[in-house]
Amino acid sequence: MQTTEVAILGGGIVGSSIAYHLTEAGCKDILVIERESSQGKGSTGKSMGGVRAQFSTPVNIQLSLYSIPFYAGFEERLGHPCDYRPQGYLFCATSDEHLSYLRTNQQKQIALGLKDVRMVSADEVRQQFPQMRADDILGGSFCPTDGFVDPYSAMIGFMTAAVEQGAKLWKNGAVTSIQRNHEAFEIETTQGPVSAKQVVNAAGAWAATIAKMVGVDLPVEPLRRMLVPTEPFDQFPHSAPMIIDMSNGFHFRPEARGFLLAWNDPEETPGYKTDFEPAFIEKILTRAADRVPVFENLAVNPKRAWAGLYEMTPDHHPILGEVPEVPGFYCANGFSGHGVMHAPATGKILADLVLHGTTDLIDVSLLDLARFAEGRTIHETAIL
Ligand SMILES: Cc1cc2nc3c(=O)[nH]c(=O)nc-3n(C[C@H](O)[C@H](O)[C@H](O)COP(=O)(O)OP(=O)(O)OC[C@H]3O[C@@H](n4cnc5c(N)ncnc54)[C@H](O)[C@@H]3O)c2cc1C
Repeated sequence: MQTTEVAILGGGIVGSSIAYHLTEAGCKDILVIERESSQGKGSTGKSMGGVRAQFSTPVNIQLSLYSIPFYAGFEERLGHPCDYRPQGYLFCATSDEHLSYLRTNQQKQIALGLKDVRMVSADEVRQQFPQMRADDILGGSFCPTDGFVDPYSAMIGFMTAAVEQGAKLWKNGAVTSIQRNHEAFEIETTQGPVSAKQVVNAAGAWAATIAKMVGVDLPVEPLRRMLVPTEPFDQFPHSAPMIIDMSNGFHFRPEARGFLLAWNDPEETPGYKTDFEPAFIEKILTRAADRVPVFENLAVNPKRAWAGLYEMTPDHHPILGEVPEVPGFYCANGFSGHGVMHAPATGKILADLVLHGTTDLIDVSLLDLARFAEGRTIHETAIL
């Protein structure tokens, strides 16, 4: 039987970052177990790659305050690109309520150390993006260090560095059961059995199935999200930030020679649905042309559009840390659409917890599993 100090179940960006941070901290006896034949077939390979610190809750802001500078120095630190592009996020408010919400958030973000986030006037938005219909825009907020990364490249960078530092990666290794004995966990996989002293659940949208194997109910549900890339389009600047229309949640960013369009369809229901729904194209293009009239001329090829899964928790915050009822079993789950941007902080926090039982990066008790049973949920409203 293969033995290891730490088994990480799931080799997406979160499992890869945890493996990297553990090896960096000196723990080399790590096995990452991934069921697919290659990494990135879960949510990581489907992500929009947005990274932002413009959140409403202190803990989400803190996770970004570690993660975004990490991405800025990624290549220097890991010797592998993550393609961080600090083009910013611009939230555009069309109601007084949204504008004051952005102002309150901006003050919180500054108080926590985010230096460059600022409010922008409606005129500024109009001047910068005259292509946008701005008659109802009252103002917004902009942070220039927000932006985009290439999630696949970041995941491979984390895992490559972890393997160079001693970690092992098994592919085609679906975890099928976990037994806890006195001293170790015995994990059955399609690549053979593994005995591990500590186990980290990093199985993304499938995390609840893994947790069930040790008798834990994890409130993480899959929710489909669809993205529509456009054909090359040059009537809107490619230096643009992620632009969010707060009137309906439509948002877009430059991607290659075109744009990547996103919208959270409120009619979507939980489930493992990963087919792209062709009817979504019309829904999203209507919203796109409403906010940016020249987007009426956008061409899209439905065959290039795709769908993936968000891993949602009831309060849209991740679940991080050891499960007290199952000592040695850790969760790194439920990122609710923010797993790429928060992967660096998650790696650091999980490495701290596995090796030392504590972390000073955040107050991790805020994100423990017990918060749901104990009524301590923390609501994030700045969700895309
Ligand atoms: C359309 C879309 C857009 C998104 N946009 C953004 C964004 O702009 N910014 C952002 O930060 N986040 C975004 N996200 C969310 C982000 O992609 C996820 O939060 C993140 O990828 C989660 O990473 P992960 O490693 O936990 O999960 P995954 O990448 O899903 O990795 C989990 C891995 O576990 C493996 N696994 C599952 N079950 C088993 C098993 N039994 N045995 C072994 N292995 C198993 C899977 O094969 C998978 O590879 C987006 C997601 C989608 C779908």
